[in-house]
Amino acid sequence: MVRLAPEVTTKARRTRKRFVEVLIQNIRDCLQSSDIAHSVDGRWSRIFVSADDPTTARRIAGVFGVSSVSPIDARLAGNLDDIVRVGEDLYRDRVTGRRFAVRARRAGDFPFGTQDVRVQLGAVLDKTGKVDLTHPDVTVTVELRDDEAFLFSERVKGVGGLPLGVEGRAVCLLSGGFDSPVAAWMMMKRGVALDYVFLNLGGEAYERAVVSIAKILADAWSFGDAPRIHVIDFGSSVDAIKSAVTPRYWQLVLKRLMYRAAEQVAHAVRAQALVTGESIGQVSSQTLKNLRAIDEAATLPVLRPLVGLDKYEIIERAERIGTASLSAHIREYCAILPDRPVTKSTPKAVGAEEGQIDTTILDAAVRRRKVLALRDLHATDLVEPYLFAESVREDAVVIDCRELHHYQAWHYPGARQWSVSNLAAHFHELDREKTYVLYCAFGVLTAHVAEAMQRAGYEAYSFKGGAKAMMRYVEMQRGALPV
Ligand code: ATP
Ligand code: MG
Repeated sequence: MVRLAPEVTTKARRTRKRFVEVLIQNIRDCLQSSDIAHSVDGRWSRIFVSADDPTTARRIAGVFGVSSVSPIDARLAGNLDDIVRVGEDLYRDRVTGRRFAVRARRAGDFPFGTQDVRVQLGAVLDKTGKVDLTHPDVTVTVELRDDEAFLFSERVKGVGGLPLGVEGRAVCLLSGGFDSPVAAWMMMKRGVALDYVFLNLGGEAYERAVVSIAKILADAWSFGDAPRIHVIDFGSSVDAIKSAVTPRYWQLVLKRLMYRAAEQVAHAVRAQALVTGESIGQVSSQTLKNLRAIDEAATLPVLRPLVGLDKYEIIERAERIGTASLSAHIREYCAILPDRPVTKSTPKAVGAEEGQIDTTILDAAVRRRKVLALRDLHATDLVEPYLFAESVREDAVVIDCRELHHYQAWHYPGARQWSVSNLAAHFHELDREKTYVLYCAFGVLTAHVAEAMQRAGYEAYSFKGGAKAMMRYVEMQRGALPV
């Protein structure tokens, strides 16, 4: 038996009907995504779900718009003698030696009152247990409605809020720290479906971590929707900022460009607002003055559900949502951290700095974005594309993990030699700020090490195809050089 969140039940009749229809769809989606066979009977003030799986109630409790869920122990025709007999059979053992209360509630006409149920069922259970209406260990409830009696003794608290989707769509700027996933969750709780935008300033390992966080939000909390993440390479925007803008304004201009990019995505997906994890005064770019100065870059409303929360409250929520442990391990990439960022800016000053930048690079970056359907991603999709490199960045550290004699016969120019087992045991000693490309004979063994390194926060890749592919790559690079 699923109870609706109070806010759903106070809506006008037509709105309530629409909300309940969406809620039923979302509950179905939740159970389907766990392969739980079920049927749903939606009534005016309760939703009844039949399913065999013992986790059903707990799962439904996590769907936005649900106030609480009770697994029904018995459902019978509303006849007082039967209720008392079945109630006694069901709960006698459970109340033995414990304090209990019988509660009864009624919606509709019955030839007996709720007081009759309380007194008669209470009397038979009182033979083995002890009535205590204020501090019961066990609460037996009989709910009479639509000619039937429902008996239950458990109540799983639901998340509440509004059914996902009833308030339209917004675009959430997701950076992977503690804040933005919590901001996303709070908006979803208010019925707003989300697309995510991630501006990548820090390479593939970072992207993979952020996509993994978005996937938690999608798989555990987005029933009824199929959210996407739009990954936009912000490297060229950062370069443009660094070459054209006064350092003290770098962060604010960066934020403005982020808003602008997100707004372009918002228009493409018909979203009504932007969502960020900003909270007043948390960091220098989030002083009230600076928020005002960056706000102007957006024409859509910028919603900041964390605006009044303290950091510890945010982390506590992240723990309950399930994103905290991933956020804790994310490597903070702020490619642009000047010494003394401006804290009291004005729209005019930031606007003038931003005006130094050619905005067509932003348009191009948004157009080239990668769009991932989060709920369709599999664990391997999250690992494989991010584990292999097909080129070697100039500043990367290359490590040859083959046997020493192979290394001596040929290796990538400047490569170091470490055995796979040695590297797996000691990579923690390596500099975390560098990028690593590993290769072995086929690229398989080093993929495992690269994965372990990525989990530990390193940016590390296995060269796709191993040593042979690496030789070809070196040849090609040589061929490409002017003679
Ligand atoms: P978070 O904990 O969410 O990473 P933060 O405390 O690091 O936030 P900022 O880096 O100032 O604070 O970011 C504030 C907000 O701006 C983030 O919550 C997010 O909504 C957005 N944002 C920042 N960086 C990015 C990014 N690289 N991609 C997408 N959104 C971003
Ligand atoms: Mg951040």
